[in-house]
Amino acid sequence: MPDFRYSLQVVRDAWEGCTNCALGVRRKEVQGKFVFGEGTPRGIMFIGEGPGINEEQEGRPFVGRSGKILRQVIEKLGITDCSYITNVVSCRSCALAYTSEGQPITRYNRSLRIHEQVVRDEAPSPMQMAACLPRLYEEIYLVDPVLIVSLGGEAAKAVISERSFSVIGERGRTREINIPGAWSLPELTEKRRQWLHKVRGEFVMPVTQNRVRYLLLPTIHPAYVLRRWEDRSYKNPLEVFLADMKEAAKIYDRYLLENYGKEPIEREVTVADVADIGEDQ
Ligand code: URA
Repeated sequence: MPDFRYSLQVVRDAWEGCTNCALGVRRKEVQGKFVFGEGTPRGIMFIGEGPGINEEQEGRPFVGRSGKILRQVIEKLGITDCSYITNVVSCRSCALAYTSEGQPITRYNRSLRIHEQVVRDEAPSPMQMAACLPRLYEEIYLVDPVLIVSLGGEAAKAVISERSFSVIGERGRTREINIPGAWSLPELTEKRRQWLHKVRGEFVMPVTQNRVRYLLLPTIHPAYVLRRWEDRSYKNPLEVFLADMKEAAKIYDRYLLENYGKEPIEREVTVADVADIGEDQ
């Protein structure tokens, strides 16, 4: 196991060329960028599902339309300096688009003057997410956040390790999660009360890896908020998202008060603060 205790840069360098799954192989083929997290450790860590086209081009998380809403809400709440943003997978997940009859969907590319097949973002598969989880765990361990906010059902399922989790039913409620830590402890084997034992001719040392507990607040994905922008019903996605983000800031403020005696400041974000983002659609 790599020693990732030193810095996020070490982790980034170790994973940047990764081709452990098809997403990494594609990223390399199309020369897309690997998207690592960015921000300030030991505050609130936001975890999305995976980069889209804008993120792949810039090599930064949440810089497209979903990112605009996320980052604007973070700014309005005054928590930019204590936020860290990342994703479950670091490479874009997408596929060529087909009609339900199996015909390729094409569009005219004006600058190249050709018809080209449309490429659509799609959710990474559970196997692709599993391949990137060791990177996410290393990132979480080093960021060591006060609170993790997962964005959307897939990110929550990945960090909770529970495929049956329902983001609509369980969002907005904090829970504790266990993340594998950085070190492993040698363990006595049950059989002969000894450390080293032989497996296929090799001496191995049985180990247990430490686990670190974090507080998680699951919420919906900003892309879902954008898809349901016109919805102004009771508990519509935008209001739900803003309420969860305010709750995250409140939890962080409580932590500052309890640990550093810092009095909470007024934090507010309203629908009007982000109205322009949805209008650009
Ligand atoms: N959606 C995500 O989940 N992550 C990004 O970085 C951008 C969009």
